[in-house]
Amino acid sequence: MAEMVVEGAVTLNVEGAFYNPRMRLNRDLGVAMVRALGISDYLDALAASGARGLRVAKEAGAAAVALNDVSPRAVALIRENARLNGLVGCEVLSSNANVLLHQRRFEAVDLDPFGSPAPFLAAAARSALDYLFITATDTAPLCGAHLKSGIRKYMAVPVKAEHHREMGARILLGAAARELARVDKGVRPLLTHATDHYVRVYLGIAKGAKSADRALESMGYLEQCRSCGLWRTVSGVGCPSSGKCSFCGGRAEVAGPLWLGPIQDPGVIGRALAAMEGSAARSDRGVRLLQACADEIDLPMYYDHHRLCRRFKATPGTASDLVEELRSLGWSASRTHFSGVGVKTDAPIEVLREVLTAP
Ligand code: SAM
Repeated sequence: MAEMVVEGAVTLNVEGAFYNPRMRLNRDLGVAMVRALGISDYLDALAASGARGLRVAKEAGAAAVALNDVSPRAVALIRENARLNGLVGCEVLSSNANVLLHQRRFEAVDLDPFGSPAPFLAAAARSALDYLFITATDTAPLCGAHLKSGIRKYMAVPVKAEHHREMGARILLGAAARELARVDKGVRPLLTHATDHYVRVYLGIAKGAKSADRALESMGYLEQCRSCGLWRTVSGVGCPSSGKCSFCGGRAEVAGPLWLGPIQDPGVIGRALAAMEGSAARSDRGVRLLQACADEIDLPMYYDHHRLCRRFKATPGTASDLVEELRSLGWSASRTHFSGVGVKTDAPIEVLREVLTAP
């Protein structure tokens, strides 16, 4: 029995393979990014029904698209769906992704597994020549809700905090940066977003040991106070010792190692926005998300505006008002796509208290 869906410019039979309509936005953005980056050789390493790779072939104009899945049922469906959409030039493979990724090189590798991408990161780091795209749906381990699982998968300690969604994204970015560094490749995040139940990162890759060394300079740790929530970032590969918070004297704990460098490239995101316009991948939500990512200032982490107000016993205004106020005082500040009440700023916590409690 066929179970047909239409997504973007393709029609798919998804009967008997994994297909999640809630991931459509994720795939829309993937199509826009492939177009924006002019990618011509792309692997959908865990393809299921082929929704992602076939859309890349049809909508992004990539010349060589390979789709792979270990499941025979998925491979049969991918073949059927390729024929159905006139995409007979796509290469359909039925390998264990880790074997394929060790055997062959691709300009761009896309990992979209069940749960954690951790089992595929080492092989994908070898295979990807210029771009590596990763989806992770294991947000509980990444963001600190399942501490031990996060440590096992990503060799990093997350701390449950108000900016847990960004912490998860930066732990994933850090894990990818370290895997790529092992094979003498440096990483440059182009677009990072945490949406619904997943984190998605788009990485540009630069070859060479020097590029890898430079990328590792963006690794570091985050020290976070358990009592007042104040945090500071510490760059480098040495873990800072957990000590006392300078603001309230409370006990501070350490998260990391994680990526502390830039996570958005507004130029590339602008091209993705242009690629989306008038295309089957366009949605208002997609445009809003890309715009929000492009507008974020380049600073790790954010404050939860509501929690700040509670902490300082201030009457809550809006997060946008706080951003404007901080900017008018000469500080950098922006909203963030990670949270509807998140505020990114380089203003010290004392300034935030003054602004929020001013009569
Ligand atoms: N990318 C798909 C999409 O956008 O609709 C969803 C992929 S689904 C979450 C994960 C797929 O990975 C499944 O179809 C499963 O059969 C496949 N898979 C799991 N382990 C694999 C492995 N080691 N090698 C290749 N495919 C694998």
